[in-house]
Amino acid sequence: MAKDPICGMDVDEKGAEFMTHLEHETFYFCSKACQERFETEKGLIDPDQAKGWAKRVVSGILKEPKNKPPKCH
Ligand SMILES: [Zn+2]
Repeated sequence: MAKDPICGMDVDEKGAEFMTHLEHETFYFCSKACQERFETEKGLIDPDQAKGWAKRVVSGILKEPKNKPPKCH
């Protein structure tokens, strides 16, 4: 089992739908929202480039206090 670094939920690597490779490490996520949030916080996504719901997630990150888990499940 891997742990979603954003919300702390356990994610099964074998069935993982959402993953990001970063500096030889693979991170697994329970949802697209967690993945996008992670990638945004790591600077992999430019908030200005985010579109649609991703932009809502990003603007949510900017408004919310840091380290507050998103409402993904
Ligand atoms: Zn999550």
